[in-house]
Amino acid sequence: MKTALITGGSRGIGAATARRFAKEGFRVIINYNNSEARAKALAAETGGIAIRADVGSPEQVAAMAEKITAEHGALDVIVNNAGIAHFGLLTDMSEAEWQNLVNINLGGAFRVTKGLIRPMIAAGRGCVINISSMWGQVGASCEAAYSASKAGLIGLTKALAKELGPSGIRVNCIAPGVIDTEMNARLDSETLAELKDETPLGVIGSPEDVADAAYFLYENGFVTGQVIGVNGGFVI
Ligand code: NAP
Repeated sequence: MKTALITGGSRGIGAATARRFAKEGFRVIINYNNSEARAKALAAETGGIAIRADVGSPEQVAAMAEKITAEHGALDVIVNNAGIAHFGLLTDMSEAEWQNLVNINLGGAFRVTKGLIRPMIAAGRGCVINISSMWGQVGASCEAAYSASKAGLIGLTKALAKELGPSGIRVNCIAPGVIDTEMNARLDSETLAELKDETPLGVIGSPEDVADAAYFLYENGFVTGQVIGVNGGFVI
């Protein structure tokens, strides 16, 4: 049975991605940090496994990687999806807030991939999918750290695609537009309507739209180092 790890799989895009891979016959490992009940319910629903680790913590990620490798060997898919947002002026952002966001959004993908990639290299196959954002492509006002972390994921994706391609491992990136999840719950209805207006397709995306793109990136064996926009035409 093929195995996929989805970080931040307890809610939103990660949960939809776990459901999608489970539907395709994968054993899904659902990483979570705070949402234990939801991760466990999703594991029960999908026949998967829930595992807690804060991707911002090197120790917790190392322990998770060790447990996963001992129990499941080389993974087939890693989806680095866990992420947080921060909205505010750069001048109001503290050093600690910057470090925390970059550590989770970018550092998390680094240490989860590093922790699990050796058995995949030995197996000579696998697929890493990083969930970036269209703001990593074009930048968002009042989201400097978030945009920088997501741009960093694009650089990480391209570098690793070159480094790991000869080992048979593909590394790609999805840059979602505005997706209907709890991450956007802070947006008032006026802002959401504006974002919809700015989206050529005139709708907000669903977590399933992103999950479908993730499955495509797994299935297509000749795509690597790419950034796939799932954004309704917002950024072209
Ligand atoms: P969400 O609904 O807020 O869910 C975030 C997920 O990340 C949760 O499962 C959460 O787990 C997990 N997470 C957060 N910090 C974590 C940590 N330190 N360690 C482990 N897991 C952690 O967000 P979403 O909209 O689904 O976003 C998923 C990804 O897509 C993020 O990387 C986000 O930046 C990106 N994205 C979202 C949008 C959008 O419009 N929604 C657009 C572009 C990109 P717990 O609840 O268990 O803590």
